[in-house]
Amino acid sequence: MTLSILVTGASRGIGAAIALDLSGRGHRIAVHAGRDTAAAEAVRDGLPGAGHTVVVGDVGDPDACRRIVDSAVDSLGGIDVLVNNAGIFEAHPVDGTSFEEWQQAWRRTLDVNLLGPANLAWLVARHLVGRPAGPEGGRLVSVGSRGAYRGEPATPAYGASKAGLHALTQSLAVALAPHGILAAAVAPGFVETDMGRTVLDGPGGDAVRAQSPFNRVATPEDIARTVGWLATDAPLWVSGTVVDANGASYLR
Ligand code: NAP
Repeated sequence: MTLSILVTGASRGIGAAIALDLSGRGHRIAVHAGRDTAAAEAVRDGLPGAGHTVVVGDVGDPDACRRIVDSAVDSLGGIDVLVNNAGIFEAHPVDGTSFEEWQQAWRRTLDVNLLGPANLAWLVARHLVGRPAGPEGGRLVSVGSRGAYRGEPATPAYGASKAGLHALTQSLAVALAPHGILAAAVAPGFVETDMGRTVLDGPGGDAVRAQSPFNRVATPEDIARTVGWLATDAPLWVSGTVVDANGASYLR
């Protein structure tokens, strides 16, 4: 069965790899970008299969979230799976920011990394539950972070936003199970993308790679295959899980 899947933040990095993995499994993808329409179109044009589309908008804006979901539903003819992947990672160390900068970083990070996924989850869950044919299942998969457990000294709002996203996932798993809907998350450690690049290419890069006994960081495909499994093949019974995908760099 071909599923219709909205992947946020799919214009590059992990999201683009998720779009590729899921389309390779035969599904139709709404490739979402925050701003970079051209990059999202290039990702869409590289996907196997037909019927993929592009949607653009700031997930930190609730009205834009509604437009993103409406547009994906219109173009794909519905949504079966939401992958909440879009996120930001902006430094705001407690000993290196003004009070104003601190507040700004917290607001923006929580808006994009937590409230956006919560709003998208509400919109997609209500779409799934309200389908004319009646509730038929569906899946909500979010990309969290190891930082939720391990701490993020230079980006504390990021760590808190991902801890919130994991908790949101668990609450949704319980609330939506009666509708046959799965909710799950993946918690990656460092991944080779634009987001991690400044650290990985800098003087601390080797130390970061050495955090894992495999002596490397994840490729986007490592994370995409985990998300792809949760979004399609994983049994309903794993609902509520947060899968660690960190190369044994942090065990809890
Ligand atoms: P990335 O390369 O920086 O790409 C971020 C994606 O999110 C882009 O498609 C971007 O779209 C979109 N985006 C950013 N801000 C947005 C906004 N306000 N509204 C809508 N879309 C927005 O990031 P990545 O490394 O692939 O990370 C993907 C996810 O994995 C994030 O949730 C991140 O927290 C998580 N993660 C990453 C790592 C890592 O080491 N990379 C580790 C753990 C977890 P535009 O380009 O159009 O702005």
